[in-house]
Amino acid sequence: MTKFVFVTGGVVSSLGKGIASASLAAILESRGLRVTLIKLDPYLNVDPGTMSPFQHGEVFVTEDGAETDLDLGHYERFITTRMKKSNNFTTGQIYKSVLEKERRGDYLGKTVQVIPHVTNEIQDYVKRGAAFGQPDAVDVAIVEVGGTVGDIESLPFLEAARQMSLKLGPNQTAFVHLTYVPWIAAAGELKTKPTQHTVQKLREIGIQPDALLCRADRRVPDEEREKISLFTNVPEWGVISMWDVDTIYKVPRMLHEQGLDGLVCDKLRLSTPPANLRRWDELVHEVEHPQRNVRIAMVGKYTDLSDSYKSLNEALRHAGIHNHARVAIEYVDSETITPESVERLADFDAILVPGGFGKRGIEGKICAARFARERGLPYLGICLGMQVATIEYARHMAGLEGANSTEFEPQTPHPVIALIDEWQDAAGEVHKRDAGSDLGGTMRLGAQSSDVKPGTLAHQIYGAVVTERHRHRFEANEHYLERLQQAGLVISAITQREKLTEIVELPQSVHPWYVGVQFHPEFKSTPWAGHPLFISYVKAALAHQTAANADAPPPTPRVGNGQQEAA
Ligand code: GLN
Repeated sequence: MTKFVFVTGGVVSSLGKGIASASLAAILESRGLRVTLIKLDPYLNVDPGTMSPFQHGEVFVTEDGAETDLDLGHYERFITTRMKKSNNFTTGQIYKSVLEKERRGDYLGKTVQVIPHVTNEIQDYVKRGAAFGQPDAVDVAIVEVGGTVGDIESLPFLEAARQMSLKLGPNQTAFVHLTYVPWIAAAGELKTKPTQHTVQKLREIGIQPDALLCRADRRVPDEEREKISLFTNVPEWGVISMWDVDTIYKVPRMLHEQGLDGLVCDKLRLSTPPANLRRWDELVHEVEHPQRNVRIAMVGKYTDLSDSYKSLNEALRHAGIHNHARVAIEYVDSETITPESVERLADFDAILVPGGFGKRGIEGKICAARFARERGLPYLGICLGMQVATIEYARHMAGLEGANSTEFEPQTPHPVIALIDEWQDAAGEVHKRDAGSDLGGTMRLGAQSSDVKPGTLAHQIYGAVVTERHRHRFEANEHYLERLQQAGLVISAITQREKLTEIVELPQSVHPWYVGVQFHPEFKSTPWAGHPLFISYVKAALAHQTAANADAPPPTPRVGNGQQEAA
């Protein structure tokens, strides 16, 4: 039977509960257990798809096309189990489901209440996420409860967790609580009081944690750990210190060294071989010993919050690891790029235009794509970045003046990027196609496969077929493809089912590395395998750097915009 570990958080958010949960899962997996992770989000949005990346960070897309919390990205990067729609749910989804049942009369005239109806629904969703009782069930499901203990919003989730541990009986569930131990500089001390209080709050609702993960900017000394133990009723070996590290890949080793996995396995009566974290140690070694540095300009809109491009940052880092290089990503606000100021991009080893929505900053991105094309700088355009490259090529190489996407200019004379519903042939007729999905105005989401054209760069990278995940509405307009190809743009992959453009590139005879992809490859990168597209891109960036150094131009001052991303 599947056992459950609930991971809760206290005091403040942003302590790294997702990384802690994923790390515990990774250690358990290294002990030979089948593990999955489930994220519960205590907000009323049905999914994060409609939320601003400024507020919420990246929307992570699963193979089956669910728009989920970015923590699911950490999960997929840390363990081998792939996440599905059922691995993430929100209060909004729970209420939606309860209200639908109520309207259908499923509750047989009863008064529908938070306890038991909402809490039962939560338990059903948790079990569904773990495939509880099904043939593909896992040994352990780690359930990360979003929010902070003491919030009104997360109460039903915590209550559901308590009930679940009661119903499943002894040794079927464990509770891990992540807390904050602040360093007070004026006193020169680590303070345990917030931890005492958050555990009190948790115990008030009937949950006694089995382990505490004490986040601090430094190691929590034994004396403080003893004190925390005394006040929280958690045995001292369960009071685990989780200090700041320079790479998240150090966290599994850190938690294992202090016995977290042993404690959880004891509690759940699981006997397994010891943990084997060799691959994590090797990974950390690679991260800490790069042979070269490479600088990539990420030209985007959400430059204030690196969480908006979480998976992308990770994918670039993984590609760095596989090239023995450290990738420094510098965010460049696309609104600051103009034909006059674009020259500053010459200072980078490669340019990347990531996904995005809305008109703001779009001309700056087009400018960056043109600069990369004309200067032979490696260019990777992802989703919107591919659309931008296509618009740029249409305008400046195919003679389609004013070409645009209907997302930014509905009345454009040349809608080279448009909703499928808007595509018109020469006679002005719209040919609707049955794509088997709501391609008209709604998102193309999740994994789809395309055939790759032999002889292209994409074919060198992917082979004959590429299967990647999507999250977008607009598509390269079929009626312009011929014209673009005549002008030299290569369409190197089209989807098998709907025949939509998936990859565009420039021939390597005219540009060393220029690729735009309609999908989001970053969601499938892991530290172990990296991702072939990003690995190839970073390699091209390194080659560009080598060539630039060989040309030995007079050293120019390096000008970057925006903050250097923290390692
Ligand atoms: N806004 C574009 C579209 O909807 C691109 C989306 C994206 O980059 N994810 O097609």
